[in-house]
Amino acid sequence: MYFNDEHILFRETVRQFIAKEVIPNANTWEAERHIPKEILKKMGDMGYLGLLFPEEYGGSKADFWFSVVFLEEIARSYMGGFSTMISVHTYMAINHIFKAGSEELKQKYLIPAIAGEKLAALGITEPDAGSDVAAIRTTARKEGDEFVINGSKTFISNGFYGDFITLACKTETPVDTASAGVAGISLIVVDLDAEGVTKTKLNKMGWHSSDTAEIKFDEVRVPVSNLIGYENGGFYYLMESLQIERLVAAVMAVAGAELALEETLKYLHEREAFGKKIAKFQAIRHKIAEIATEIEMSKHFVYNTCQMFSEGKVVVKECSMAKLYTAELAKRVTDTCLQFFGGYGFIEDYPICRMYRDVRVGTIAGGTSEIMKEIIAKIVIDEVKYSKVY
Ligand SMILES: Cc1cc2nc3c(=O)[nH]c(=O)nc-3n(C[C@H](O)[C@H](O)[C@H](O)COP(=O)(O)OP(=O)(O)OC[C@H]3O[C@@H](n4cnc5c(N)ncnc54)[C@H](O)[C@@H]3O)c2cc1C
Repeated sequence: MYFNDEHILFRETVRQFIAKEVIPNANTWEAERHIPKEILKKMGDMGYLGLLFPEEYGGSKADFWFSVVFLEEIARSYMGGFSTMISVHTYMAINHIFKAGSEELKQKYLIPAIAGEKLAALGITEPDAGSDVAAIRTTARKEGDEFVINGSKTFISNGFYGDFITLACKTETPVDTASAGVAGISLIVVDLDAEGVTKTKLNKMGWHSSDTAEIKFDEVRVPVSNLIGYENGGFYYLMESLQIERLVAAVMAVAGAELALEETLKYLHEREAFGKKIAKFQAIRHKIAEIATEIEMSKHFVYNTCQMFSEGKVVVKECSMAKLYTAELAKRVTDTCLQFFGGYGFIEDYPICRMYRDVRVGTIAGGTSEIMKEIIAKIVIDEVKYSKVY
């Protein structure tokens, strides 16, 4: 009921693109732990990176359902690393520049990012501050018409091969007092090849093709004009954008779970034991019935949240619930599915093996399940209200 003929046609186009340009490269990109930037350019040329943005910046300002279709299809690439690279770039890092950045920043960073010529990262998490965003310690001190940045970030997707980063910094001193906590954070765009930036690639359990880096900033100088929006307004920008980030994660989690189920159904009809297809064993059938039900139910909740989001409603509660439920669901589904592959589920040649590894981080990245519960509890129990920032 949410998708019209144009969305359906768009889905076919994206699916064909992923089948031709992405899936055949998956094993190589995973093994090399690197996705070549050419694919970003190809996606830019297809208009896939600008669905949210107006034409003047190279986008198409399509309705949100085109994004939902796009995210569902990239989640079917059998590579959590690929969908992360693209979704972080488009729906997380550059969204801030579009929403609150100056025209100069839009010309310099947003347009090439939408065209797929520059890869973007979002830098919030630090070695000593993840869930507690207000506790970040990376500083940006003003000297004349420049910010001088010192500190480090970790677990940054697109951080090693990326061209620039939307960086959360403390612009108010003292950096470690409660008074400078949430109010003292600003978002600043930093070129990742700037002098004083050093990057180290991190070895991960899954998402092998995605580059995840620790980045150090040592007296890195950027023009004051690289500030996004208001100085000391960064925390509020980040909090608002968490809605779309969590919704994006939820859409992709459901699509990934659905793909795992599809792969498993094929196998159940092929594999035999005790003289019959394993699809005939009741223990398996009931488990499949359970996960199929859960996927279907959560899909509709996520779609409903997408609808509310696209109408401009504040959906902090719904997005947090969607992220919490679908990330846990995807983990459970993939575990169950792998079990039905028997020993083959543990073998790299079978896609379910990578899916199982990749899905694990879903309950951690982009806000842990515990933090989702904290947010939901504050809304449900303490009646905390959220309003729009942008
Ligand atoms: C592969 C990967 C990619 C990532 N990409 C990015 C990126 O591009 N940009 C970026 O900025 N970050 C990124 N992250 C970081 C991610 O968002 C953080 O890892 C996450 O927010 C958790 O922070 P942390 O790891 O510091 O854990 P911590 O905050 O130290 O939490 C440790 C444990 O304590 C729990 N906990 C913490 N506070 C509470 C509380 N109040 N109540 C109950 N339990 C609590 C947590 O749920 C967790 O179980 C990425 C992480 C990974 C693994």
